[in-house]
Amino acid sequence: MKNYELELPQGYVEAKTIDAKSDKRIMFLFTLVSGLVTVGAVVVAWLCLGLTANNWMDKLIGDGASYWHNFVFIGAMIAYVILHELTHGVVYKAMTKQKLTFGLTLAVAYCGVPNIYVYRKTALCALLAPFLVFLPIFTVLPFLMTEPIDVLWCALLWGMHVGGCVGDLYCTFLYLTKFRNPLTLLRDTGPKQTFYVPAE
Ligand SMILES: [Zn+2]
Repeated sequence: MKNYELELPQGYVEAKTIDAKSDKRIMFLFTLVSGLVTVGAVVVAWLCLGLTANNWMDKLIGDGASYWHNFVFIGAMIAYVILHELTHGVVYKAMTKQKLTFGLTLAVAYCGVPNIYVYRKTALCALLAPFLVFLPIFTVLPFLMTEPIDVLWCALLWGMHVGGCVGDLYCTFLYLTKFRNPLTLLRDTGPKQTFYVPAE
C-alpha cells in the first residue's frame, strides 16, 4: 500500500479540518490543555519534593543551587521545540520523500508536508513519533536529578512535551475513533490538517 498520493483521488470528500493557527476555538483549547498539563506536572513534582510555602525558598535556591542549570534547561526547552518538529519531519521525509514545511509562531510550532495527501499509516507514524520518542526521555530525566530545582525544571519539560503534543494526540484520537479507514487521506500543511475520506 502506498504511503501518500500526489493528487486527491476521485471520489474523496473533505471530512474534517483542524486549524491550530487561525481557528481561535482550537487554539484556545490546545493552549488551555497544554497549560493545564504543564501546571499539573509541576504541581506533582512540587508535592513529591515535599515543598511547602515555608521551605521552598530554602530547598530551591538555598544552599549552593547551581544557577547555570537554569540556562541549560532554558536551552533544552528551545532545543526540544525544534527537535519535536524535526522528528515529525524525519518520519514524513522517510515515508514520502516530499518537500516539508516548518514554521514557528508564538502560539504554535509546526511541520507539515503540504503538497501531498498522506494515508492513515503515514500520518499516524509522523504524528506520534515525537510523542513516543521524547516521552521516555522526559519521564526518566527527573529521577536522575539531584537538585530539587532541576527536578522542577524536568517536570516543566515533561509538561511542555506532553502538553505540546496535544494537537498530535487529538489527530491520533480522531484516527482511532472517526477515521479508522486506512484509505483516509490527510493533507498536513503544518498548522492545518484536513482529513479526506472516500465517499460512500
Ligand atoms: Zn507535533
